[in-house]
Amino acid sequence: MNTAPASLEGIYCPSLTEYKRRLTREVRIGELAMGGANPIRVQSMTTVDTMDTLGSVEQVIRMVEAGCEYVRITAPSVKEAENLGLIKKELRARGYQVPLIADIHFTPNAAELAARLVEKVRVNPGNYADKKKFQTIVYTDLTYGAELDRIRERFTPLVQICKEYGTAMRIGTNHGSLSDRILSRYGDTPLGMVESALEFLRICEDLNYYEVVLSMKASNTQVMVQAYRLLVQKLEEEQLQPYPLHLGVTEAGEGEDGRIKSAVGIGTLLEDGLGDTVRVSLTEAPELEAPVAKMLIDRYTTRAGHAPIKSICNLPYNPFQYQRRETREVLNLGGHNVPRVVADLSLVENITYQDLRPIGHIYHEVLDKFSMTDQGADYVYSGKTPIGFMLPNGLKEILDYTVWSEADHHYHRFPLYTAQQFGTAETWHPQLNFVQVTIHDLSQDFIDKLHARPDVVLLLETINAHAMPEQRKAFIRLMNQGQPVPVIIKRSYSNLYEEQVQLFAATDVGGLLIDGLGDGVMLSTQDLSFRSKEEWAYALEGLNKLAFGILQAARTRMSKTEYISCPSCGRTLFDLQETTAMIRKRTDHLKGVKIGIMGCIVNGPGEMADADYGYVGVGKGKIALYRGQQVMKKSVPEERAVDELIELIREDGNWLEPLAVE
Ligand code: SF4
Repeated sequence: MNTAPASLEGIYCPSLTEYKRRLTREVRIGELAMGGANPIRVQSMTTVDTMDTLGSVEQVIRMVEAGCEYVRITAPSVKEAENLGLIKKELRARGYQVPLIADIHFTPNAAELAARLVEKVRVNPGNYADKKKFQTIVYTDLTYGAELDRIRERFTPLVQICKEYGTAMRIGTNHGSLSDRILSRYGDTPLGMVESALEFLRICEDLNYYEVVLSMKASNTQVMVQAYRLLVQKLEEEQLQPYPLHLGVTEAGEGEDGRIKSAVGIGTLLEDGLGDTVRVSLTEAPELEAPVAKMLIDRYTTRAGHAPIKSICNLPYNPFQYQRRETREVLNLGGHNVPRVVADLSLVENITYQDLRPIGHIYHEVLDKFSMTDQGADYVYSGKTPIGFMLPNGLKEILDYTVWSEADHHYHRFPLYTAQQFGTAETWHPQLNFVQVTIHDLSQDFIDKLHARPDVVLLLETINAHAMPEQRKAFIRLMNQGQPVPVIIKRSYSNLYEEQVQLFAATDVGGLLIDGLGDGVMLSTQDLSFRSKEEWAYALEGLNKLAFGILQAARTRMSKTEYISCPSCGRTLFDLQETTAMIRKRTDHLKGVKIGIMGCIVNGPGEMADADYGYVGVGKGKIALYRGQQVMKKSVPEERAVDELIELIREDGNWLEPLAVE
């Protein structure tokens, strides 16, 4: 069973059912404050070499014009820190007041200089006072205390300078760069991440310095969400100040995958009112990040005042640790089955073989045969129109109950009942029956009736603007009643831009999956502006890919290669976008393999934390290749590096030749 927190007192957010932002301390960052009653701020980071003053200035301006309210710039050493002064001067001369943030790793002297020049410094507690040697060290309380004294000594001068100059600070933990000390004591865990920041934060408070923002980034969305929640909980427990939170998923990647992964992590927290600033990290030009962050944030400006959701008295799962809700197995749904994808073709007229292509089932005319991609839908909902041919590859059909009961071969199809029909129907499929419900249908009587029908799967939908929390509450109700019925999460989106659908669905569905809730996903559109089959095909393909993408980003079903690529910065040693595209082209058929693509050796190996293979810049035109955290080839010329990476994958027996489709 899941471990349940004893009560909801002191839970990680202001409310699990009513949208409310967590009230945080206001922190001044130059002329633009963060936290408190201020709007959630957008920020991003430059990728140009910090020593290229004009290049940096021009990129900052492009980012500001795209909606960035703060801009972070890397300062790997004192000379870059010094150059921040020139960049700032030029920006101010051109009329841009945007606050600048120096990004520091390993170099306290660069931090101490930058803190005199710019509005905020970001320190990584994993490497501010420690060099990583990947060693496990056994500490006694005494030796651990001595380490903390050493950190205090190294960190205090920076805090004093920040106090003197009115400079803010972010203590930004990264899952991938925890110190050997933290790893030795707490392991590679959300608690280790939180403790890593708190060690530095306690020093700040001891010195009466409070202009602090905190972050807990990870590329694993489950770890990231758990770490932020735990951080809030620990701040309250220790009665530390309610510092603002900077939200981000590290190394999210590019394109649709990067957006979906970011939304799963960031959106899940925003839903619960956590977060005062957002940075979306994409392996793309930094000016493309701000609009994504803004789209995520803007969704909450009108969220308050949503239809009420009854409060929760008992949380039946642990929000700090992933465990899938226990459900009974019904055919291939629930139990230990991967979450299933249901494609909604109910608005497509006269479904033909070709209409299955967008949902991953491809008909080859010459062979008169179907094949399935790694993202082939598991079920198709055809509504009121039975499909007139045998479905391929184990694909199963769901029909509305009234049509199903009249249809031919109804043993091979499955009925979908409304909640009312569930109470009165006389005909049932012997193996699997779907019932479409909202939270309002889950009365005691309805739940009691479910106990008598172990062949039922629920299709849970909502029209509440606070959608994810309402569906979460429905799951909680079922769990508190000991009802193990499998549940498919159904969401419908219409009249939105494609990118909005991606971000919103990833937030709404991902936010449930992250807590182990959901045995399947059905994404629909009622957008009747699609008139032709081509337009439908495009929309269906997008929704099908999106459903699989969300399952992968929430780490509940792997159907493709995962790329953990850094967003690049002034340290980057090769063209990340081009290289990522090249690696993707050669490897994107390797289902479930995780490949890290990192711009530099300083942070790259740590940041790609749980990748199976790594491609890391070590010098101009030179690449190091990793198997897990172990370097296998130290300095491969860039032009041969992708081939050698593939060779490494092949040696491990993980390589597959790509299948040519048509
Ligand atoms: S891993 Fe990428 S983003 Fe991080 S410091 Fe290195 S180059 Fe910059």
